[in-house]
Amino acid sequence: RIAVVGSNMVDLISYIHRMPGEGETVEAPDFRMGCGGKGANQAVAAARLGSEVVMVTRVGDDVFAETTLKNFEDNRIGTEHVLRTRASSGVAPIFVDPESRNSILIIKGANALLTPQDVEEARDAIARCELIVLQLEIPLETVAAAMALGAELDIPVLLNPAPASPDLDLSRITGVEFLVPNESELELLTGMPVDGIEDIQRAAEVLLAAGIRNVIVTLGARGALWIHEGGRELIAAPAVRAVDTTGAGDAFIGCFATQWVRTRDVAEAIRAGTAYAADSVTRQGTQSSYAWA
Ligand code: ADP
Repeated sequence: RIAVVGSNMVDLISYIHRMPGEGETVEAPDFRMGCGGKGANQAVAAARLGSEVVMVTRVGDDVFAETTLKNFEDNRIGTEHVLRTRASSGVAPIFVDPESRNSILIIKGANALLTPQDVEEARDAIARCELIVLQLEIPLETVAAAMALGAELDIPVLLNPAPASPDLDLSRITGVEFLVPNESELELLTGMPVDGIEDIQRAAEVLLAAGIRNVIVTLGARGALWIHEGGRELIAAPAVRAVDTTGAGDAFIGCFATQWVRTRDVAEAIRAGTAYAADSVTRQGTQSSYAWA
């Protein structure tokens, strides 16, 4: 059983010929809505692979809240700790041009209102979990509260420091069991240049010295690099024909979390995560690209 304390968003995807100028109205050929948000994505991947997921998140009081709740139910994610707020739900208007270039707006909405108290109220459910999974699309003090609860209950914490936040300082994440950044997040977190394996190693050593036990850096098509006290291991991703890499990192984390809880074998869980994420990039969409077990 896994606890995810994090965000949910509804992606509002407009397929456009071009962006309208100021004061201008233009027609666009197509529109699609999809469920996203890093927390929800990771929860959905884990649930589709058989994890029982306790999702702690906030939705607003609009139609997007209904969409998100139904999506959790469809994915067998419990909604007991999906809290409602008199606010907008988190939404992401996304504009995709004919060359597949994205322009993305993020309105955090209810996600910005998830509080340490909300985490505390989910204490009993979180206490029954074997791993707590966190990202940075909710307030940092709420992330900190979930980490503190993990420490108190002796439940390991996985932190995906995404989106990269300049406000996250290392002293706040020393107890993390698994830190899972991509290369640019690692760079911002450590303030060190990251270009190639040796740079990653140097940056990761700073994190290990700060008390983080495992640093797992996802490397896109190259897979993932695991760095820990005992050494390092590069785990290649299967070669695939990539169609859409949106949400690949979240697929990796949902699968890694599920496999690690099942086997307690980090290398094996990374292998499973890279394979699952590589499979997801062969299909369009975010959650819609995640396979069921
Ligand atoms: P993020 O989406 O968070 O930036 P990455 O780009 O590092 O994360 O991708 C996460 C994982 O997704 C990788 O470790 C890998 O397993 C898989 N992946 C991403 N892009 C590809 C690709 N082009 N081919 C194969 N696997 C990929």
